[in-house]
Amino acid sequence: MNSSNLLSLDHALDMLLSFAKPLQRVDTTSTFDSDGRVLAQDLVSDIQVPAFNNSAMDGYALRIADLQAHSGVLKIGQHIFAGQTPSVLGLGQAARIFTGAPIPAGADAVVMQEDAVLVGEDQISFKRTPVLGQCIRRSGEDIQKNSILLPKGTRLNPVSLGLAASIGCASLTVSDAPKVALFSTGDELVMPGDIEPNLLPAGSIFNSNRFFLKTLLQRLGCQVTDMGNVPDDLGKTTSAFSDAAKAHDLILSSGGVSVGEADFVKPAVQALGQLQLWSLSMKPGKPFAYGHVNSQANPLKQAHFIGLPGNPVSSLVTFMLLVRPFVLSLQGCEKLSVKPALLRADFAWSKADKRREFLRAKRNDNGGLDLFPNQSSGVLTSAVWGDGLIDNPPETTIAVGDLVSFLSFTDLMS
Ligand code: AMP
Ligand code: MG
Repeated sequence: MNSSNLLSLDHALDMLLSFAKPLQRVDTTSTFDSDGRVLAQDLVSDIQVPAFNNSAMDGYALRIADLQAHSGVLKIGQHIFAGQTPSVLGLGQAARIFTGAPIPAGADAVVMQEDAVLVGEDQISFKRTPVLGQCIRRSGEDIQKNSILLPKGTRLNPVSLGLAASIGCASLTVSDAPKVALFSTGDELVMPGDIEPNLLPAGSIFNSNRFFLKTLLQRLGCQVTDMGNVPDDLGKTTSAFSDAAKAHDLILSSGGVSVGEADFVKPAVQALGQLQLWSLSMKPGKPFAYGHVNSQANPLKQAHFIGLPGNPVSSLVTFMLLVRPFVLSLQGCEKLSVKPALLRADFAWSKADKRREFLRAKRNDNGGLDLFPNQSSGVLTSAVWGDGLIDNPPETTIAVGDLVSFLSFTDLMS
């Protein structure tokens, strides 16, 4: 805790990750469906890629020494297309060859067709002397047999799926998807679709957190059960959480973690297990809860509990900075953090805060950053207008031209 009794974000993340032991369950997924998942074992190649020497160009394969011996003119002895098996290159011959086709035994260079000149009907000469190995893609130059292509703990992306496919993997062994029970809390919340927007009763608001939290969790490889909204009632909150603990690894809720009279998350989790309420030294996103929930029906079943603040931007930012690494860590992922970029502020920020702030900002066409004018934690528009967060240290003002640390939403949302 710092002097004002707030917990630093780094300290909170360290504590959270110390609880996020990998689940150690594995799953086999089709390579096509493995984007965003984490490899549960090293991916080792059984083959060389390319598997055979092949031509990088459309052109002519030849033996360089033959050029001198045959006054620079070679006879075109065969045509080799991709997918075909060539014959050995005859002495004094060149082979017409196409991109990706196997190099015939005996050839040691390929000349691209633009540098070749046809002599008569079936002979060829070249504009310049080729260099040994030119335009030949060597077997194994991309991937060596028995090499570790991607180590255990790698988070897969679309390109790594293509790489896995290039060594013949139709399926991959990945960490099992963490099972997450997602709740929102609050009597004021209405699900979109339940009421026409213009008939929304006074005091009610539409539930927005559930939409981005569910989608972000799914992008992180989680299997999400949307448990709906829990009313502000201790008994109902307690039984909903106990129920969810039976078959989930994590219960994630938003709202109700302050210590107001209508905040029942704290007593409900305390009745079922343990809860730590943290006041984080960050803005947005001060109240945050971590704990365990035991299932009353099955005392052997226990789930992690994370309670996010209710204000939408607070919910979003604490999710990105704390829950994202937590659920990746449950999957054994090695890379948990997002790398910041140093970018120029094209605005001034004179309101230094005692908490570390995460300001919604957008890259402009001049390579700098603009700031959204309203940084309130309830204004979700700021996070859609912006394309990332400026990580501004406590007690720090920003002058025009200062370099600031910027975390992109593209990274934080993937
Ligand atoms: P709470 O933390 O429950 O006191 O909520 C703080 C603020 O966030 C209140 O204005 C709530 O109405 C709002 N809020 C809580 N949950 C949600 C949600 N799921 N979607 C949108 N706003 C919410
Ligand atoms: Mg509430």
